[in-house]
Amino acid sequence: MSTNNTSNNAFNRTILEELLKKRFFYAPAFQAYGGVAGLYDYGPPGCALQANILDLWRRHFVLEEDMLEVDCTIITPSDVLKTSGHVEKFADWMVKDLKTGEIFRADHLVEAVLEARLEGDRQARASESDVIAAVTKDADGKSSEQDKKRKKKGKVQAVKLGDSVKAEYEEILAKIDNYTGPELGELMRKHEIKNPETGSDLTEPVEFNLMFESNIGPTGALKGYLRPETAQGQFLNFKKLLEFNNDKMPFASASIGRSFRNEISPRSGLLRVREFVMAEIEHFVDPLKKDHPRFNEVKDTKLRLLSQSIQAEGKTQPIELSIGDAIDQKIVDNKTLGYFLARIHLFLIKLGINPLRLRFRQHMPNEMAHYACDCWDAEIQSSYGWIECVGCADRSAYDLTVHSIRTKEKLVVRETLPTPQVYEKTILDINQKIFGPKLRQNAKIVEEYLTSLDEQQLESLKEDLEKGNGKTTVPGTNGEGYEVSTEFLTIKRQTFAEHVREYTPNVIEPSFGIGRILYSLIEHVYWMREGSEQRAVLSFPARVSPFKCLLVPLSHHPTFTDLIQDMTTRLRKLSIPIKIDDSSNSIGRRYSRNDELGTPFAITIDFQSVKEGTVTLRERDTTKQIREKAKAIFRFLLSSYLTAAFYNIDTILVILKDLVEENITWETVISRYPEFTQQELD
Ligand code: AMP
Repeated sequence: MSTNNTSNNAFNRTILEELLKKRFFYAPAFQAYGGVAGLYDYGPPGCALQANILDLWRRHFVLEEDMLEVDCTIITPSDVLKTSGHVEKFADWMVKDLKTGEIFRADHLVEAVLEARLEGDRQARASESDVIAAVTKDADGKSSEQDKKRKKKGKVQAVKLGDSVKAEYEEILAKIDNYTGPELGELMRKHEIKNPETGSDLTEPVEFNLMFESNIGPTGALKGYLRPETAQGQFLNFKKLLEFNNDKMPFASASIGRSFRNEISPRSGLLRVREFVMAEIEHFVDPLKKDHPRFNEVKDTKLRLLSQSIQAEGKTQPIELSIGDAIDQKIVDNKTLGYFLARIHLFLIKLGINPLRLRFRQHMPNEMAHYACDCWDAEIQSSYGWIECVGCADRSAYDLTVHSIRTKEKLVVRETLPTPQVYEKTILDINQKIFGPKLRQNAKIVEEYLTSLDEQQLESLKEDLEKGNGKTTVPGTNGEGYEVSTEFLTIKRQTFAEHVREYTPNVIEPSFGIGRILYSLIEHVYWMREGSEQRAVLSFPARVSPFKCLLVPLSHHPTFTDLIQDMTTRLRKLSIPIKIDDSSNSIGRRYSRNDELGTPFAITIDFQSVKEGTVTLRERDTTKQIREKAKAIFRFLLSSYLTAAFYNIDTILVILKDLVEENITWETVISRYPEFTQQELD
């Protein structure tokens, strides 16, 4: 089997990037025009891979949990994003070179410079500009060439840091996501962080809003933005979704779509781009019942958790804990949040993410939005470090509340109580027939004051009336005093019975960046097969690999044409995505080209196939093959592995279908069928 690349020792990103470019997984967009940083086009294997990731996402979350999928618009009126807080707060901190005007994202710059200094401390030959160029620049999209030049430029001198400085840098890096702009400015002054290229001074960090602004319609009167996330559309459809769900709680909505962020410094390939696909879930839950009905199904799932307390100590080593224990130890706030953390973990593992390179990092209190009660990021390690690929936050009732206040539309759940809730309350009763004529033109301002009183204030007014023999003076809303009396005011305790409970649901929001997951997955399944020459393999699990089966005739010989055509038709009927390679390259070469695409299986047609109707089935990681019947006698019986075994027909196709759907493993297949070793490969 594959050697899932667990360490980065042998990993060479440049070679992988070459491969991804050569096989057109993805490429910078508008290259002919010089490209724009942070914009990428996906080619055929990239598209297929993304579609398969999304397909698995839909099955794992939407289908499994009866989520209500919606597809909302990308263009969003500015009022919506003002209410959500994005217009004011969806910003990063940037600094400008005072001489050249070059722009950096402040936290990235601090991170890159300190990492470079630590690297300089570790390795005399390390190059600060390499590290920096890899992680900071590219603000305007025209800088990739500049970047290459920079990389070749200044080498870091190996400067040994003092122990306390080293520890301080490490602590800053562990907390790099938590600093405010002014704090970053302070760090930059203290540690003398300047433009690493020119040595020039930089401005104080200033906020830059990440949303792309636009106008809706020709007048320019209605301002809008390209959405920075899919969530707002889901919140604004809450009422319709609740109704669609027959008013049953809890429930979740889900949405897959593009989001846009005008990143200050797009970098690290697909990991920080300006346009990307997100898949988001909004799980609406009763704030008083944050248990999850299916929590028991996941409670033993072990997660690697980097809690607030670990980070506060400046450490980066997670603890491994079952989600059940994490809830018991109050590390994770509630079971619904815990349920989703476990489900996210299971999803990523199913995709092929290496569990040893996956961790959940809790947001520090100052990193979390003020309304959030807990928030965890699923971080995946790649050659770019630990990168947030899924955010999972308990956003409390914030979103529904703010939209409800702004629009005056009630975004609440009304729950009929099984037994009415009985309670007592102090109330004020005004006899208008006497009150009006007594207070005449002042009646309104006095009434306004009286009706604004809470229970405690009413009780003290009652006391004043009792002390004054049924009379006292109260202020009107104009501040002047007016006499009131028990002649027209009654203050009493009254019993009420509530039959309906009304509440604003809380929201648990798992939010997936598909491009980040896709790239991290590629790194995790990439390895080099040793041989006469090293050949790259992408060991995607069958259900996510872009193509499932390679169909190769031994040679260009016309005798294979009919059989290839027949097999193609039959594979298509089985909905197995195939790639036919009838080029004149050797079979070995054709196999390895498809190993690079991650195609897990190959069917080879040779002269024996034509004679006796058998073909070979090769598995990508082991390169082992079996040889079985391929000709269908009873095609309609092609439904299960058992049927095929019983009738001994079309065995290969049934095995292949089961392998592709991950109903059986290759280990099982190879244990049941003799390995075939005779074929001439080259
Ligand atoms: P956020 O709403 O910032 O928590 O982002 C949700 C998810 O979107 C993150 O976990 C990332 O996977 C993804 N994401 C955010 N910003 C970017 C970006 N600039 N490029 C690619 N993916 C992103």
